[in-house]
Amino acid sequence: MEGGKRIAVIVLLVALILGVLRWLIRSHYAARRPPKAIRSQRLEMIDIETYEVFTRTLEEWTQGGTGENGRFKNPRTGKPTMALVTVCVSCGEKVPAAEFGAEDTPDVVLMKQRAYICPKCGKHAYPQK
Ligand SMILES: [Zn+2]
Repeated sequence: MEGGKRIAVIVLLVALILGVLRWLIRSHYAARRPPKAIRSQRLEMIDIETYEVFTRTLEEWTQGGTGENGRFKNPRTGKPTMALVTVCVSCGEKVPAAEFGAEDTPDVVLMKQRAYICPKCGKHAYPQK
């Protein structure tokens, strides 16, 4: 009877451990993978060197990988040179958007945008007022 109890306890413990493991793996996976509505969001990006523009879903950008600089890779060249797009107010061309840090306050963002010079026409890419 003693041996039977021990086996029952071991079986219960193993079931518990497997359950916890499965929960851990599932929650880890869920945390790393955003919902489909976000993954299927289309995102236009521009190459900071060639100015090629590509529109892909966030999932496709993510699958393409990033470089050590954190940028998504150009699907054609494989180089991590992609940036968000803005339309320059001076020349009307699509150019890489001004970039900010996650810690930048709205004032800093506005200041960086006003200081940003369009790489195509050399004039201000954002409104000055
Ligand atoms: Zn411009």
